[in-house]
Amino acid sequence: MISANIGWTKRCRTVFHECRAAASRPSRLTKLSAPSLSVAAMRRLLNPESDRKAMTMTETDLEALNFPDAPKMVSAEFPGPKSADALAQSARTESMARGAGRAPVVIDRAFGVTFKDPDGNTFIDLSAGVGVSSVGRCHPKVVAAMREQSEVLMHAMEVNSTKRTELATKISEIMPEGLRGDCITFFTQGGSDALEAAVKFAKRVTGRHQIIAFHGGYHGVWNASVALTTGTAYRKGYAPFMGGVIHAPYPYAYRFPFDTNQKSAEQIAGEYVDYLLNTPYTAADDVAAVIVEPVQGEGGYVPPAPEFLQILRKACDRSGALLIVDEVQAGAGRTGKMWAVEHSGVKPDMLTFGKGIGGDVPMAGLVMRSDLAAKIPDGSVPNTFAANSVSAAVALTNISLLQDPSLGLLDRARSLGQEAKEYIQGLNSPFIGEVRGLGLMIGIELVQDRATKEPLSHEKIGELMGYVLSHGVMMVPCGRYGNVMRVMPSLTIPRSLLFKALDIFGRGLSTL
Ligand code: PMP
Repeated sequence: MISANIGWTKRCRTVFHECRAAASRPSRLTKLSAPSLSVAAMRRLLNPESDRKAMTMTETDLEALNFPDAPKMVSAEFPGPKSADALAQSARTESMARGAGRAPVVIDRAFGVTFKDPDGNTFIDLSAGVGVSSVGRCHPKVVAAMREQSEVLMHAMEVNSTKRTELATKISEIMPEGLRGDCITFFTQGGSDALEAAVKFAKRVTGRHQIIAFHGGYHGVWNASVALTTGTAYRKGYAPFMGGVIHAPYPYAYRFPFDTNQKSAEQIAGEYVDYLLNTPYTAADDVAAVIVEPVQGEGGYVPPAPEFLQILRKACDRSGALLIVDEVQAGAGRTGKMWAVEHSGVKPDMLTFGKGIGGDVPMAGLVMRSDLAAKIPDGSVPNTFAANSVSAAVALTNISLLQDPSLGLLDRARSLGQEAKEYIQGLNSPFIGEVRGLGLMIGIELVQDRATKEPLSHEKIGELMGYVLSHGVMMVPCGRYGNVMRVMPSLTIPRSLLFKALDIFGRGLSTL
């Protein structure tokens, strides 16, 4: 998920030495004093609902859920000696096929949006583990829930257990319209397997076999899921994939291949799917489902106008195909609504969730309309580890934090996201081609030349990432050319840390 050929470790070392002096210069942001968790804040965090209603979390309370003084680099080298050893040991013992393994950073411990490496350097994480830590890492309520549940029940195989049922009930309550209150959840461990399940079940309930997915889409890496995913890095050499997948253009307006003078990218892309589904001789004559990210993630943080999903919904209804929204990355409040599909008012037939619902633990799944789920034979898809009781307890805690009115995390994602976008635009860097996104799912598309939109080179992106990392900020790129920097921190990120990190990003841009 992190673009190849960046040569991070080498660049980081060079940039670290070049910029260490610059880093010690005071930022134009006011230096904040180290926060500490006040008694009142701790009460707000741990006390029962009724107690917290009247209280509102302040920025100071949020700051206290992080290591103080971030970012802070204390090692003479970066990566420091302990991190370098750990990286070398990891390279000897673990497959680098994993996405972010090449990042020259080692996480030793984490709190909120901050983490420390083994050398004692403290970082601000703008990536939230790729959208996973929706409420920050090691949140005290999450830790308490884990501790409590681990003393009672952890693994129950697939037998009914109280926590998994509680979670399935809660998930039904928080679903978007169309699923809410009348749906069935199939739990999985990760997002890829939720998509595997989606494809299997869509085929089983429709009796059809084809799937329409989109250019720029990312849905996982296994069998069906990688057949939907479009990135070359994930496909090359791994073919043949599951057959019957048709890829259509996603309304990525900034780089849309068709003329948008008469119609928007959303109209063209939506109507193209309608044409595929509902016209003879397109060979899309046995389509079980259209699977779509309501905001494209790995493909470059592309938020389409609501019209796109609305056209897809009508096209699916005309053809009898299911509409499945993949909310693994955009869901769990990240865009300022619990589910990104809710920005369009569209009712999906199925929804996949993952990342931010589990947060610090693996938890994902597929939610289906009840009438569809009823068509799936009992016992046909066993899954030993799904819905572990500790994971279920953590997911329930994450959801309650996301819904907690005293935190207002979804509203905060919207307002803070807007402020962050304006701040980034205000950097006025010639390398910024476009800043886009919803809530705290912001993509900054970097270009060599604004007129030609030539993507910023991998080398320059590597330099930028080296700069920010060696100054204590973790960011991960995405996008079809690996040139979109994501701002996707935990929704609990204090304003002070967000803008400190963006300040470092801006300074990094100005060194290119
Ligand atoms: N769907 C989407 C939209 C994703 O962004 C991802 C992960 N980036 C996945 C599915 C796969 O999730 P996982 O890595 O948990 O298998």
